[in-house]
Amino acid sequence: MYYKEIGLGLGAALVFFLAAKGYDVVPLIFLGAAAGLLYYFLQSRGMVKSLVIKGNEEEENNITFADIGGQRAAVEELKEALDFIKHYPQARRLGVRPLKGILLTGPPGTGKTLLAKAAAGYTDAVFIAASGSEFVEMYAGVGAQRIRNLFRLAREKAQQSGKNRAIIFIDEIDVLGGKRGKVNSHLEYDQTLNQLLVEMDGIKGDEKVNILVIAATNRADLLDPALLRPGRFDRQVRVDLPDKEGRLEILRLHTRNKPLAPDVDLEAVAKETLGFSGAHLESLANEAAILALREGASAIGQRHFMEAIERVMLGARLERRPSKEELWRVAVHETGHALVSEWVRPGSVTTLTVTPRGGALGYFRQQYEEDSYLYTQEQLEDRLAVLLAGVVAEEVVLGSRSTGAANNFEQATRVAETMIRAGMSRLGVAGSAELPEETRHELLREILSRQEERVQQYLRDHREKLIYIAQELLAAERLTGERFRQLLRKEESATSRQEK
Ligand code: ATP
Repeated sequence: MYYKEIGLGLGAALVFFLAAKGYDVVPLIFLGAAAGLLYYFLQSRGMVKSLVIKGNEEEENNITFADIGGQRAAVEELKEALDFIKHYPQARRLGVRPLKGILLTGPPGTGKTLLAKAAAGYTDAVFIAASGSEFVEMYAGVGAQRIRNLFRLAREKAQQSGKNRAIIFIDEIDVLGGKRGKVNSHLEYDQTLNQLLVEMDGIKGDEKVNILVIAATNRADLLDPALLRPGRFDRQVRVDLPDKEGRLEILRLHTRNKPLAPDVDLEAVAKETLGFSGAHLESLANEAAILALREGASAIGQRHFMEAIERVMLGARLERRPSKEELWRVAVHETGHALVSEWVRPGSVTTLTVTPRGGALGYFRQQYEEDSYLYTQEQLEDRLAVLLAGVVAEEVVLGSRSTGAANNFEQATRVAETMIRAGMSRLGVAGSAELPEETRHELLREILSRQEERVQQYLRDHREKLIYIAQELLAAERLTGERFRQLLRKEESATSRQEK
């Protein structure tokens, strides 16, 4: 609102009025000027921030889910949650409590803000954005006050525009929602977070304006557990770096309005941009256009894109990208896990990728066994075999091991220890606490090396298959379980034909 302008206008009118009545207004003018200067000085140092969070009122929100590329899983998950909000009246009749918060987690620039905006469009809600850092102040109580104002503003804005829903988007929630009592031994953060919890607990679902809070972070592990409890941010949606298909989709989106030369091969660009986020790709398309402009070309060519990749990589200081050899090793490693998993439990592989994610360069996912309280010895041995398969595959194909398997070993050791405790080792039932350290080590080694030999045998016998699928994985960057099994069958029928 124009509070400042109205105040200034009234002040000026008062001065004129007093002057007309014959009063001496000079001291008043000096006083006003001094107050103005002081306010300007404090504000320029960020010491007086208005208590009202503005939200991005001016910005028009016409983002839809179609403008977001390479995040199919996240979009589906989010839509599912939003459908529930859209059809809330039915759910309420059944006594379902309203969904109050959704947490988007993932690396920067992957489209979390876009998703929140699209969510607002999808549910016909007003959209208000704020960032966690805006709530962090030196002065006690200011952050909490801002939270209250943010919720109030959301309700007001929705009513003004005749809507009954509002989405509040809080970026970088980890700044204000870190574990309580940990930050600077400073209670201000805690008060702000408490206020957010209070506001969220106050959402009833039957008010004039229903509020949904969408928060984003790339460090969900830092959040205070109270935020993740049911009734608060009880839905989490992962927003990951896009894979090759995803990057291609995003590139297509960001070149929609740009003239492309016939030689442009976006697929090749997608292939070269492993590890790029949506924001990097947007910047890449823009850089390519700038390069074309500088050359005076009438359309953007492939070489502009290739040069732009270098520029974005230099500018963005992307994490070091894995070399070709490293990627090949990762592909072999993950394929090893997958082959053995499929061998011991057919149909168990769900995904394998060579897309960097978190600290790992690739990952392999399998369907979990039915959750059970008891595991048989065979099940545990099979699990060990799958865990050891990555490093054994590296050895079988590349002749050496790497440090990439440290995590696998840790898990394998834990499984083997469980086996010893459960009396599945050579010693049979033996109080594991009393076992001398040396014996325990020996038993661990025995259990692990028995599985290692079993896996070695299998992967040596199926070396061709391993290499074939690792190559396919490297080319596609990501294989679904289905595709993986399809390739397996293809390779098997090719081999049997050869043998005939
Ligand atoms: P941060 O965590 O840094 O706030 P973010 O995940 O919220 O990042 P956005 O602000 O949504 O990322 O994305 C920044 C810009 O990058 C967008 O405006 C868009 O141009 C582009 N972008 C990012 N992800 C995608 C995507 N999946 N599809 C299309 N464009 C994208």
